[in-house]
Amino acid sequence: MTPEEIRPEDIRPEDIKLAADRIAAAGDSKPRLARDPVNLPMIRNWLEAVGDPGVLGGLGLLESPETAPPAMIQVWTMPGLHGSRGDGDPLGAMTALLDEAGYTSVVATNCEQEYYRCLKLGDQVALAARLLDVAGPKRTALGEGWFVTTRSTWTCDGEPVASMDFRILKFKPGSAAPGASPGPSPGDEIIRPMVSPDTEFFWAGAAAGELRIQRCDACAALRHPPGPMCPVCGNDTAGYVVAAGTGEVYSYVVHHHPPVPGKKLPIVIALVRLPEGVRIVGELLGADRDEVRVGLPVRAEFIRIDDDLTLPAWRAVSAATLPPLVIDVTPTFVIASALATRDFQDVHHDRDRASASGAKDIFLNILTTTGLVQRYVAAWAGPDAVFRAISLRLGAPCHAGDTLTLTGRVSAEAGAEREIAVTGRCGVGDHVTATVRLVLPAKENR
Ligand code: ZN
Repeated sequence: MTPEEIRPEDIRPEDIKLAADRIAAAGDSKPRLARDPVNLPMIRNWLEAVGDPGVLGGLGLLESPETAPPAMIQVWTMPGLHGSRGDGDPLGAMTALLDEAGYTSVVATNCEQEYYRCLKLGDQVALAARLLDVAGPKRTALGEGWFVTTRSTWTCDGEPVASMDFRILKFKPGSAAPGASPGPSPGDEIIRPMVSPDTEFFWAGAAAGELRIQRCDACAALRHPPGPMCPVCGNDTAGYVVAAGTGEVYSYVVHHHPPVPGKKLPIVIALVRLPEGVRIVGELLGADRDEVRVGLPVRAEFIRIDDDLTLPAWRAVSAATLPPLVIDVTPTFVIASALATRDFQDVHHDRDRASASGAKDIFLNILTTTGLVQRYVAAWAGPDAVFRAISLRLGAPCHAGDTLTLTGRVSAEAGAEREIAVTGRCGVGDHVTATVRLVLPAKENR
C-alpha cells in the first residue's frame, strides 16, 4: 500500500501509542536556532499587539529596553509561516501522525513556562524539544482527541534560559458528543436556578451586573430571597433597589459532599450580610479555607455562564487583589496578536477555516493569552519585577467579539516572592486560569 492509500481508520490507537513511545524514547530533538536573535523590532511588534495600547512601556520596556518580555520566549523559535519545526521535532512528528488518523484540529490546553534569566537584545536562543506524554483517544467537549504534551528547553550558548511543558488537544472536528466531558463548556453541566415571575428581576439584574434586592412598594422594606408578599406589611407589589455589591461573611460552610455538577469540591458557601440590611447566600470564589472567617469583607462578582444565565458570587476583598483588566477582543486584536507572536495557525486569522475546524469564530492563540497574563501582572508588579514562571490552563476559547476580563489576587507570598492567581473570563466561561511566580523589587515589596 502506498502512503496515499492509508485511510484514517487504518490507523489504530495502538499504532498511535507505539509511535508515541518511539518518539518519546528518542529524547530531545537537535537544538534549532531561532530565526533572529532577540531584537527590538519583534519586541515592539509584540508590545503593540499584546501590550497596553496606550503605553508602549506597559511592560517596563521603556525603563529596560535591553530585555525581552519573558512571555515572548516561545515567539523567538516559532517555525513561522513557511518554516519547519525541523527534523526530529517530536510535536511535528506526532501532529503529522494524528492528522493522518483524522485528528486534524488542534487547540492548546496547558502551558507551564519557567524563566531562568531575562533575555537581552542580541541573545541567540536555540530550542530543543522532547515528547513527554500522549494520552487518548478521549471524548472531550470539542470531539474525540489525543492530548500531546511536550517539554521545550531554550538555551543560549548552551546555557538553559527557559523551559516549557506544553499540552495540546488534537481532535476530530465535528465529533463532539452531546454531554461529553471534560471540555471547555462549563455551561453544559451547571445546575440552573428556577426562574419565576417573583425572581425574574433578580436574574435579569445579575445578567446586567447588578445585585438587585426586592423592595416593598407600600412600606419600602427590603427582602431577600424574593417572594410574592411583604413579610412586614403583607402588601403584594414590589420593586427593587440595586445593592452596592459589598458585604461581609455572616456565616459559611465548606461543602465537601455530595458532588455538585460543574464544581470541583470543596467549595465555600457563604451567607453574606449586605450593608443594605439583607443576607444573601452565594459561593465564595477563590477562597482559601484558612482565610475564611465571619466578618470577612467581600464583594459581588458576576459569572456569565451563557446567554441565559449569569450567577452572582462573592470574593474576599483585600489589598492583595489586583484591579480587573477588561480587554475588547476584536478580530483585529486576535489577528494582530497571533501574527506578532509568529503563530500562523489559520484558526487565529481565517474565520472560514476556524469554523471548518469546529470553532464559532477565530480565537486567541495561547501565546497571546500567556502574554496578556504577564502584561496584567506586570502592570501591578511594576517594571522591576522579575518573572520566574507562568503556568496556565486554557478553558473556553476566547473568540473574536468576546470581552476578556482578567482578575487576580496574591495567592502566596514569601519574602519578596509572590504567587499571583489570575483568572480570565470571557462570554462562555473561564478562558484561562493561571499562576504567576515573580520576585518584587526589594524597595517596594507589597
Ligand atoms: Zn411592606
